Amino acid sequence: MATAIVTGSSRGIGAAIALRLAKDGFDIALNDISEKMFENNDIIENITAQGVMCEKFIADVSDHAQCEQFVKDVKAKFGTIDVLVNNAGITRDGLLARMSEESFDTVIAVNQKSVFNMTKFAGSVMMKQKSGRIINLSSVAGLYGNAGQFNYSASKAAIIGMTKTVAKELGSRGITCNAVAPGFIKTPMTDKLTDAQKENILRLIAMRRYGSVEEIAGVVSFLASKDASYVTGQVIEISGGLSM
Ligand code: NAD
Repeated sequence: MATAIVTGSSRGIGAAIALRLAKDGFDIALNDISEKMFENNDIIENITAQGVMCEKFIADVSDHAQCEQFVKDVKAKFGTIDVLVNNAGITRDGLLARMSEESFDTVIAVNQKSVFNMTKFAGSVMMKQKSGRIINLSSVAGLYGNAGQFNYSASKAAIIGMTKTVAKELGSRGITCNAVAPGFIKTPMTDKLTDAQKENILRLIAMRRYGSVEEIAGVVSFLASKDASYVTGQVIEISGGLSM
């Protein structure tokens, strides 16, 4: 049985990806920053109902040492690490002129350094296996920038550079690395937008609707599948035609 790690997967896009990969037959290593995130939450039952193994691993993915232990624990529990989805992410929005150093550093640590941490340790396991799939969650903010998201856009653009570098460094070991760049997807992250912001965004989307978490999970599922075995170093925008 193959194993997939999905970071930040107690809810939102991460939970949808974990469920979809479970439906695809992967055993699932869930992750989030605290036990609390899994309270009043049926993600584990939904995944085990697919007939696969599932365990949650509490770790702060911005912390290098915690990621090393997390990857060791997953390897000990499941034996292999076949797919890594770097999904955990946060926003601390604000205009650059008013952005605090703390909100810049925190977003870079959680969104960007986490990809370094997890890819280094899980990638090392995959190199020994001579196979693996790494899928990173970037964003349209990383491709085009977004006013009020200097820190977030920086972290999501960096993920694209890291994705292409990993694809080049690990390709000869049978490991692919790709990114998806979601547009506006209905999750707790986007529920925080004001009605006026939501209206303005819808006008920019060719399909005139937000995406669903399942629509992100479907593309991640493809990138983790045999059908994507010769796809690496790519960024797939999933935005309903936000920018064309
Ligand atoms: P979300 O806030 O619903 O979920 C993010 C999860 O990550 C949460 O469960 C959170 O607790 C967890 N997390 C945060 N910090 C963590 C840490 N240090 N260690 C471990 N887990 C941590 O967000 P979402 O909308 O589901 O977004 C998932 C990913 O997709 C993020 O990387 C986000 O930037 C990206 N994305 C989202 C959208 C969107 O429209 N929602 C658009 C583009 C990209």
